[in-house]
Amino acid sequence: MGERIYDVGIIGGGIVGLATAMALVNSGVNSVIVLEAEDRLAAHQTGNNSGVIHSGLYYKPGSLKALNCVAGREALYRFCREQGIAHEACGKLVVATRQDEIAALDALEKKGMANGLKGLRRLNAAELKECEPHVAGIAGLWVKETGIVDYGKVCEKYAEIITAGGGEIRLNFRVMRVKKTGQELVLRSGRDEVRCRNLVNCAGLHSDRVARLCGIKPGLQIIPFRGEYYKIIPERHGLVRNLIYPVPDPRFPFLGVHFTRMIAGGVEAGPNAVLAFKRHGYKKTSFSLRDASQFALYPGFWIMGCKFWKMGLGEFYRSFSKKAFVRALQRLIPEIRVEDLQPGGAGVRAQALEANGFLADDFRIKETERMVHVLNAPSPAATASISIGRHIAGIALKNFDLKH
Ligand SMILES: Cc1cc2nc3c(=O)[nH]c(=O)nc-3n(C[C@H](O)[C@H](O)[C@H](O)COP(=O)(O)OP(=O)(O)OC[C@H]3O[C@@H](n4cnc5c(N)ncnc54)[C@H](O)[C@@H]3O)c2cc1C
Repeated sequence: MGERIYDVGIIGGGIVGLATAMALVNSGVNSVIVLEAEDRLAAHQTGNNSGVIHSGLYYKPGSLKALNCVAGREALYRFCREQGIAHEACGKLVVATRQDEIAALDALEKKGMANGLKGLRRLNAAELKECEPHVAGIAGLWVKETGIVDYGKVCEKYAEIITAGGGEIRLNFRVMRVKKTGQELVLRSGRDEVRCRNLVNCAGLHSDRVARLCGIKPGLQIIPFRGEYYKIIPERHGLVRNLIYPVPDPRFPFLGVHFTRMIAGGVEAGPNAVLAFKRHGYKKTSFSLRDASQFALYPGFWIMGCKFWKMGLGEFYRSFSKKAFVRALQRLIPEIRVEDLQPGGAGVRAQALEANGFLADDFRIKETERMVHVLNAPSPAATASISIGRHIAGIALKNFDLKH
């Protein structure tokens, strides 16, 4: 039984919860505790992502994603330099392989410019080859600001700063009940409990559930989309210098399978975006009746299904057929072969779906009395973490009665 009453309890030890705690501690609020369900930090989205520092190319100008990605990217580069975290601003190439992708490439370039990217360069087919000799495309966009990092390592540093500043982190504490008593919120995990005056929900794949535990209607449903990776065998690493992406389908929030050089070495291909039937559905066979029935009972799920069934079936097919996955990659690098790919890991994205069937595009943060709920923090939230953490901490400082 905890005696202490914390000023702020943060649910979720992923990069968003940690960045928020770090921002609070840095602004003098150190009566903060981060509660993480797993036995380690960054166990879900944060620890299973592509490790890309996104530039800000894809997002609607003025959106929370665009503003926080651009500010967060620069803050992250600075943080990595100051803290000695391995990273590289290696740049990336977006490749158009068909004439009908040129308009979407033009639109990306315009968005990137509107979001303040200074390092954009349009390339023709010959220039593409100078940049990435094994790529075959008709046009492309070089994005200088993109980079790579290990977000697990970034989180380790955030955690060090939180604890050095007087904040606490508690692992193996899955918040299962939230009770409001007077000015206190009692967060229960089995028979253990933590008391706090205010709460920030950064529970990623469970953020809608945690909101409901707090008596808040989230107004959306988290849908898990698994992203599966393959590793390129070492003998074929030479096919990829840095990061090679297709032109994304603007109707869909995911970027399409791509090649990513990892900061720790190696090259990965993926991730696809397959509807998962479990919030922690890391395997193709993962299924949870509770999770699946929750989506099935949500009206927006069926509206989304009607809109995207063809694309969804294509992703399932590509998930089960390595050949189909390789065919998608061959559009970028025709030389890549099935035998060049070994199974890699997978990550599961928490994507918020609205009741009208729209996949929420922007970050979604709900402010309620003594609480802040982060209900949609998909990519580029890892890139944006320092900025989004400051933004959430700013809401907490404004709304909560904090002594600092
Ligand atoms: C496949 C994939 C690739 C991606 N690639 C990139 C990329 O290259 N660049 C980029 O910027 N972004 C990328 N993203 C997005 C990025 O990883 C996420 O936006 C970011 O990690 C979200 O962080 P989070 O803290 O909100 O969620 P999470 O990292 O999922 O953390 C939430 C935490 O809350 C905990 N939790 C849940 N419920 C409870 C509870 N009841 N009690 C206590 N704890 C609880 C969970 O255990 C978890 O650790 C990618 C995501 C995926 C899945």
